[in-house]
Amino acid sequence: MDKIINGKEISESIKKDLIKEISNINDRLKLVVYQVGNNPASDIYVSKKQNICSEVGIDFVLKKYDSIREKDLIQEIEKDNTDKSVTSILVQLPLPKELNEKNILNAIDYKKDVDGLSIINQGHLYRNEKGIVPCTALAVIKLLEKKNIDVVGKNAVVVGRSSLVGLPTALLLNNMNATVTLCHSKTSNLKEITKKADILVVAIGKSKYITKDMVKKDSIVIDVGINRDTKLCGDVDFDNVIKKASLITPVPKGVGPMTVVMLINNIINCYHLQK
Ligand code: NDP
Repeated sequence: MDKIINGKEISESIKKDLIKEISNINDRLKLVVYQVGNNPASDIYVSKKQNICSEVGIDFVLKKYDSIREKDLIQEIEKDNTDKSVTSILVQLPLPKELNEKNILNAIDYKKDVDGLSIINQGHLYRNEKGIVPCTALAVIKLLEKKNIDVVGKNAVVVGRSSLVGLPTALLLNNMNATVTLCHSKTSNLKEITKKADILVVAIGKSKYITKDMVKKDSIVIDVGINRDTKLCGDVDFDNVIKKASLITPVPKGVGPMTVVMLINNIINCYHLQK
């Protein structure tokens, strides 16, 4: 069996299903993205979101500011909360330091909170209730599901605890009855923990940090990292870890394309929450 989990191929097939789902919705879907400041990486991520929306027939509006006061930004978001034509809202992160990220994310109506980062959606995930889950965490879970991996009772180790990726992934795996260990930069003996992982998810942002000696034989390795070294690579030393793993995601063409498609999934879910 091929050891490589082809995220690109899986995402294309999910995208086809989502396009069908959109065609069955009578209303137009619209995503509004707020971007503040000048961050070249954010420009790339925002344009990827715009491209996928136009590909699947979702209206896309970018509200871009060089700078804006926190209360003015919150006021703008609140207008979109009540605008029925707006079905999803996303605030591109990171925000400039002078803006309080939590206050701004919490201003988004949770039914339009496509990134799942408002306190209400985080609470839903914590309590294992229906809500919107951050796209990348969902992408990891969908890849496991598509490969028919039963996580129940398995040792799942998540390295990285950001609210965007690591923490929601760990919570989802816990909700699915995996036995989860969440590691971070202060974890002692990381290698001893990762070596026990049946399922290892890595989201730290450090090129090829997870080496062959850190993984269990026949484990499943999901590499979320995107690092721009001389060429694009993940947080896992793919060329060597693949020799030991039973399944592994590559970078690129692994979690990345799935994350983009999960945005569409979440836009549709936001719409249904509002109905
Ligand atoms: P953050 O910088 O927000 O979080 C990094 C996490 O990794 C932190 O929890 C940090 O620990 C932990 N960490 C850092 N160094 C180590 C270490 N040496 N050992 C153990 N843990 C460590 O990053 P993100 O979660 O936003 O992103 C992680 C990676 O995933 C990045 O490469 C990013 O580009 C990529 N990414 C990929 C996406 C995709 O679609 N494929 C989408 C989003 C992100 P602590 O909390 O202690 O600081």
